[in-house]
Amino acid sequence: MTTEKKQKFPLSLSAIRSNSSEFAKDKSPSFAARSLGKVVMPQTATQNAANKHVSALVESDRSNPLVSDAVRRAMVQRLEKQGVKDPIVLAAMMAVPRHAFVDSGLASQAYIDASLPIGHHQTISQPYIVARMMAVLRNGGVLNRVLEIGTGCGYQAAVLSQIAREVHSIERIQALHELAAHNLRMISHTASPTMSFANLSLYYGDGMMGLPDCAPFDGIILAAAGLKVPSELLQQMAIGGRLIAPVGAREQVLQLIERVGPSDWVHSTLEHCHFVPLRSGIV
Ligand code: SAH
Repeated sequence: MTTEKKQKFPLSLSAIRSNSSEFAKDKSPSFAARSLGKVVMPQTATQNAANKHVSALVESDRSNPLVSDAVRRAMVQRLEKQGVKDPIVLAAMMAVPRHAFVDSGLASQAYIDASLPIGHHQTISQPYIVARMMAVLRNGGVLNRVLEIGTGCGYQAAVLSQIAREVHSIERIQALHELAAHNLRMISHTASPTMSFANLSLYYGDGMMGLPDCAPFDGIILAAAGLKVPSELLQQMAIGGRLIAPVGAREQVLQLIERVGPSDWVHSTLEHCHFVPLRSGIV
């Protein structure tokens, strides 16, 4: 990270919000969503046919927020059937408008259980895995300080901000970091009821190094898969804290790591999953 970038970040959302008119002028080409068009991920194709009515409903959402509420409620009911029972997580999934984080050409697919492209070869994770990871992280308790590696479009960070007291999220691709800030600011302005992200801070940097200045974290969540969990992140866990991460290359599994002592970590393997790769450095 250059010194100049260090001065510019982290971006505190409350600070960004007060700057919104200037931001609105910034239609920089680095905004990932602008070049997406109507790209559809392969795994969504079959679901699309079955969800045509959902598409129509969400398309009309801009004029009627109650419509997307209904579609989102259906998503939450599906999550419950898929095994996510944590009421706090389900309420957060109900509160955050997922369609507002994707390109408008993809908004109609925002509530099906699929990952969707957000530009720069990255994806917004499927709702099930987002909810599942948060439920495992929370484990029925209170989350004080959480670190997310891989902000992407900001969706998961937004959901986390509804379930944790303090959330820090790092992204290594500057254009996505800016896109997330833009999405979150727009939503905090337009959401009804009002949605605040005052407890969420975004950082541009290599999340493999974690955020030593803000550690320890009682929850760490990785949205990208490495061959192993970086040791810096293990060191930044609070004792009693939990880390959840996809691990692997082609074959990936969700791994839960609990820190049970100053030098003791317990690893357990959950289900198979599929995430974009964790990469080092910034772009
Ligand atoms: N949570 C995101 C998911 C984005 S996909 C969402 O809700 O949209 C995973 C993200 O991890 C990508 O944006 C990718 O650029 C980012 N990423 C990969 N390696 C990283 C690293 N070392 N540090 C920070 N971000 C990283």
